[in-house]
Amino acid sequence: MAPDDRAADLLRAAAAAAGRIVVLTGAGVSAPSGIPTFRGADGFWTIGSRNYRPEELATAAAFAEFPDELWAWYLQRAAACRAAQPNAAHQAIAALERAFGDRFVLVTQNIDGLHQRAGSSPARTLEIHGSLHRWRCSDGCSPPEPLPADLPADGDGLAPATAARLRCRCGAWRRPHVLWFDEFYDEANYRFDSALAAVDAAALLLVIGTTGATNLPNHMVERAAGRGVAVVVQNLEPSRFTALAERLPRGAVALGDAAVEVPRLAALLGA
Ligand SMILES: [Zn+2]
Repeated sequence: MAPDDRAADLLRAAAAAAGRIVVLTGAGVSAPSGIPTFRGADGFWTIGSRNYRPEELATAAAFAEFPDELWAWYLQRAAACRAAQPNAAHQAIAALERAFGDRFVLVTQNIDGLHQRAGSSPARTLEIHGSLHRWRCSDGCSPPEPLPADLPADGDGLAPATAARLRCRCGAWRRPHVLWFDEFYDEANYRFDSALAAVDAAALLLVIGTTGATNLPNHMVERAAGRGVAVVVQNLEPSRFTALAERLPRGAVALGDAAVEVPRLAALLGA
């Protein structure tokens, strides 16, 4: 059977079944919107004269040392994401939610907020790496709240007036509501248990634009595979997840640009 027929059969069977339609997304969904891949060559950060890899700076340890610099970077990144537009892949995923209602769950690693701007609902969207558009107290005294859109992205530094607004009422720094490399998934902030529970109730896990570099997506895909859930992987190029899907009795792969392929897959599901 050709790979396309295989994906089509799995998608049609999942749409007709009773279980949940779980969509897991990563950077590949936002790449057609011009959001740089966090781990790509664009991901480097400069502080002073030094270049850092994201794995070095997107950490609680670096925030404790350079809160101003990290905030300046996150505010610039939040502004860049507000300036970007959702693409056809985001729109198709929002259409799937409209088609399947409570049967639908979106689990996203993306922190750019583009899914919600395309129409995905906060109630059915689990942001397992958090969001650039929220902040919370670094001391834990308050839950995540929307980041004010008028906080200026000051470029290299952070103006004192901006820095003052980044302090919580308790005096501690507020921090970006994002999961850092030296932190762990949890349910309260990052919906870890909800993401796994969604897979346990799934008829289909549709994995889009993520290559399996992080822990929870790996868990989700392996759990789905172990339970016999259909797994369809869409990615620009072959990856660990596409190789896994090709080996599964109920797996299929759709290679190509997410903005082209995801609408096609959503149509096969009936959205
Ligand atoms: Zn506080």
